Amino acid sequence: MQYNAMTSGKMIPVGISACLLGDEVRYNGGHSRSTLCLGSFSEHFSYQRFCPEVAAGFSTPRPTMRLVGDPDQPVLQYSNSSEEDLTDQLVNGFKHKIAHLDSIDGYILMKNSPSCGMERIKIYQENGHPHTQRGRGLFADALIKTYPLLPVEEEGRLHDAALCENFVMRVYAHHHYRKEVRENPSHHALLQYHSSYKYLLLAHSQSAYKALGQLLADAGNLPLNELIEDYQVRFMEAVSKPAKRGAHCNALLHILGYLKKSVPAEERQGVTEVINQYLREEVNLATPVTLINHYIKRYGSDYVRAQRYLEPYPASMGLRNQV
Ligand code: SF4
Repeated sequence: MQYNAMTSGKMIPVGISACLLGDEVRYNGGHSRSTLCLGSFSEHFSYQRFCPEVAAGFSTPRPTMRLVGDPDQPVLQYSNSSEEDLTDQLVNGFKHKIAHLDSIDGYILMKNSPSCGMERIKIYQENGHPHTQRGRGLFADALIKTYPLLPVEEEGRLHDAALCENFVMRVYAHHHYRKEVRENPSHHALLQYHSSYKYLLLAHSQSAYKALGQLLADAGNLPLNELIEDYQVRFMEAVSKPAKRGAHCNALLHILGYLKKSVPAEERQGVTEVINQYLREEVNLATPVTLINHYIKRYGSDYVRAQRYLEPYPASMGLRNQV
């Protein structure tokens, strides 16, 4: 039977920079409490909080730190122009944690930190001016390199509704893959996963939708462990960016096609009109999805009812009301 994070009542394990949960671990002894992370997210995510700088033994409060030197391999130093290299101290503080993050499904990072920042972190030259090339915090860089398929976002970017919706969808997709496919690997489990995500894939990338279908059709050519790895690499790449409005409409119209025999043409025409309202940006995505869900629950086949596109994460999170 298909594992379902929504009906199992399980919280999804997600790593997070500790200061975002209100822990007073910042260099100035303060925090960066996030109402977003402590709001509806916290009803569904079981947070694993971590501050790499505190884990590395830096005091709180502490002098500010910054990245210095070669943009491709910067070192951590105090900002007060002392040249002490703090890189090894930080890395030794977080490497054990990084090695044991294989059972989480996402990570939320604090921006602008030489440890946690995911992008656009200044790297200074010896003359004190920043390079034009920006980089990543050292913990964020190690996290992303160790777990390239893990959904990772900065809290600041999650205030963009489309990025937030996409991140949460990827967290659930990662969780379902870990529980349904990686924990019980079989061709059958992989086929079931793919089947349940078909229309979500279609909404993100028609070419990936076809390519992943072909990968599974040729499944006999690859050892199972390679197939499972290859599939997830391509899947996570395909869904890494928010789907476009037109592509959502295409997926919704395909799903509506399943109601051809069970719902009168006049009612289907009404649904099509709501899908077109979404295309014209007159309503948000939740509107056509809620309407089509109403019909699918009553008249849809088991196959179409199992489509995670219809509810990729708990609808109560309200994310499709904003895109
Ligand atoms: S940004 Fe990272 S290193 Fe800085 S206080 Fe927050 S958790 Fe600690």
